[in-house]
Amino acid sequence: MGLVESNKNNAGHGMPDAWLLNEPVFDAAQLAVRETLMAQANGYLGTRGTYEEPVAAGIDTIEGTYINGAYLREPIHYDEKAYGFATHNNKMIMVPDVKRLMLRAGDSLLEQGSSSFTENTRSLDMRDGLLVSTRVWQVADTKSVRVRTKRFVSSVSSGLMVQEIEISSIDYSGPISLGTGIDAGYGIETETDDPRAGALSIRQCLAFCNVDISENTAVTTHTITDSERVIVTACGYDLESTGAVETCSVEESSFWGWDLALQLKAGERLLLRKYTAYADGAAENAEMLAKQAQETVEKAKSKGFENLMVEQRTAFAGFWKSADIEIQGDEAVQQGMRFNMFHLYQSTGRDGKRSLGAKGLSGPGYDGHYFWDTEIYAVPFFVFTQPATARSLITYRINALEGARARARIMGHSKGALYPWRTIGGEECSSFFPASTAQYHINAAIAYALIQYLEATEDQTILKEGGAEMLFETARLWMGLGQFSDRHDGKFCIFEVTGPDEYTAMVDNNLYTNAMAQHHLAHAAKIFADLQVSDPILIKGILDKTGMRAAEAQDWEKAANLMYLPYDDTMKVHEQCEGFFAKPEWDFAGTPAEKHPLLLHYHPLVIYRHQVLKQADVVLAQVLLSAQFSTEDKRRNLAYYEPRTTHDSTLSACMYSIANSEVGDRQKAYEMFEETYRMDLENRHANTHYGLHMACMAGSWLSLVYGFAGVRFEGGTLYFNPYLPKGWDEYSFSMHIKGRVIAVCVTASATVYKLHAGNDLEISHKGSLYRLVAGQPFKAE
Ligand code: BGC
Repeated sequence: MGLVESNKNNAGHGMPDAWLLNEPVFDAAQLAVRETLMAQANGYLGTRGTYEEPVAAGIDTIEGTYINGAYLREPIHYDEKAYGFATHNNKMIMVPDVKRLMLRAGDSLLEQGSSSFTENTRSLDMRDGLLVSTRVWQVADTKSVRVRTKRFVSSVSSGLMVQEIEISSIDYSGPISLGTGIDAGYGIETETDDPRAGALSIRQCLAFCNVDISENTAVTTHTITDSERVIVTACGYDLESTGAVETCSVEESSFWGWDLALQLKAGERLLLRKYTAYADGAAENAEMLAKQAQETVEKAKSKGFENLMVEQRTAFAGFWKSADIEIQGDEAVQQGMRFNMFHLYQSTGRDGKRSLGAKGLSGPGYDGHYFWDTEIYAVPFFVFTQPATARSLITYRINALEGARARARIMGHSKGALYPWRTIGGEECSSFFPASTAQYHINAAIAYALIQYLEATEDQTILKEGGAEMLFETARLWMGLGQFSDRHDGKFCIFEVTGPDEYTAMVDNNLYTNAMAQHHLAHAAKIFADLQVSDPILIKGILDKTGMRAAEAQDWEKAANLMYLPYDDTMKVHEQCEGFFAKPEWDFAGTPAEKHPLLLHYHPLVIYRHQVLKQADVVLAQVLLSAQFSTEDKRRNLAYYEPRTTHDSTLSACMYSIANSEVGDRQKAYEMFEETYRMDLENRHANTHYGLHMACMAGSWLSLVYGFAGVRFEGGTLYFNPYLPKGWDEYSFSMHIKGRVIAVCVTASATVYKLHAGNDLEISHKGSLYRLVAGQPFKAE
């Protein structure tokens, strides 16, 4: 059972509270999943929603605190290696844990799963990211102590985590001891054949360097294994207590902190507030980083928990003001949508140096790698709600251009840049090239994100800041990968690639790849021509730096115009790749439920040789490049691919939801939407314990905005074709567009558009163009 069902809101009507994630009881079987759901992060620092106190042996728990972009570089071992295989993996490391609380009342240890409680609840507030846990702990069966912990990861100060631990005696009299500090010895060693898992323990990641501990502060420095980089953890606390507290510092091999001891009587309490600052950086800067982290702790301490909480609420309020979607008539959907947006906000890097992992900062899954998920699924959400974050995600790729150039050379391309399929630091990290490096469409995804950002914000400055160079260098790669083919009437063909659908690999002319490359090449050629006029100095700089010739841009245009897009004239369906329709069908009727997902039960070759899809491929192309497909083709494509798609990837359902909305199958669209907004809350893919599915979360936003509201953004115009899903009373959302914000409210009978400020804006509603004027709501049937 997911949290949605188990969640009763204050109003007592049995529906989930749309802003809270409540856990009314401790559920050992669900613990690891709930730790993921209750993760807290700020784009830089992330920590799983684990309990502060230990958990009884035998209960699955996954501890983890992470710094986005901090990784361990590990050689990949192959018994049969070939030229160009990825040489190193980047594994998101675990950093020291400061949540730990060892609490004793007399001889009893507070422990989830073995201690007795009369109350044991947790609640994560999505308005501010505060996690509150309340336990009424039965000590020695008859006496009670209330233990309330609160914590948040600051949305204002990137490395900061703040905790409050309040211990109050209800009717207990006796000794209390409390141990807390910096723990660099925790860890998991997951042993699994599931390629999506990711496995590491903190001891593999970090080597101890230095500690500086006093009565109430501790600073540790660790080196990331085999690197010149360090992680600094600075921690300080203050106390309020009704009685005298004895403090002694503790130094163990991988734990540094304090033991506090006091006598507590009925009605007395101890309040401990702990402030921790993390930092990562070059080893040569270790001292400076330690000093800065200590200053952050001191500053936080002097501001105090409540003031920091006020800042936190203000930061979150800013996010919700621009991103919130309100849904009247279905609180479960409301909560699910907020939950997804909350985690997108929390997990995404905002400083141009880090991106968004497939699992965000919520768990070890996929080793914390960044994929195309960011550009195709998350960037649209940010472009239209938080354009600055979208810009930061694109900047991360710009900063990784050098690595992409190097990868292109290894892959035999004398020109251009090829982005890695999965990475943190910028190098290709996948050891299985058919489902990774072969997915050349990563280049088109990055270009698509940049182009969407440019058109939606009109912020041309990003082109000067490396965006144009990245766009052109990635475009050049297509010319080396494909060629004009006489066998295809002189059309431009792209060979030996894998499209988004990872159940079909190493194919010629994958429809999605070719269509996205076409979009990339056409826009690159156009932007090149425009910049030749508007900013010839920029163009000259790029030509000089890259050795590119201006004439290359004409080739891009020609390749775009002549791109080969496989289409079967008899069936009138786009073919996923050449030869796809000739393959045998998958025996779905003979595949029992326990054999899903197929990737865990069949050799890849068995899967590859059938017409079976893991995820949207042609259907994804028709959603992203909507104007290029006729409605009839869209309908036929959907009818053909839907029964052959397993949706074994969580990136799939949202695209089928949008495509179904577009062709008018609202019931199907809603069924697919349910796979997205409830995916992690209900652990529908049974692997949420490894981390959240960020692309799917962004996909729920896309299903609603692109699907139900029918939004498309083509050629600089926003198109709406909204409808109200069955059972909802209304929904409303905002979109940032060209420096302006439009609020959209959809009811059964009408849609109201409100332009908040700025110049008039033309939009299309159900096929007709209208001009929105600031401050004058416009109602359309
Ligand atoms: C999907 C990929 C995706 C990756 C990370 C895989 O299961 O097939 O498309 O990029 O997960 O989310």
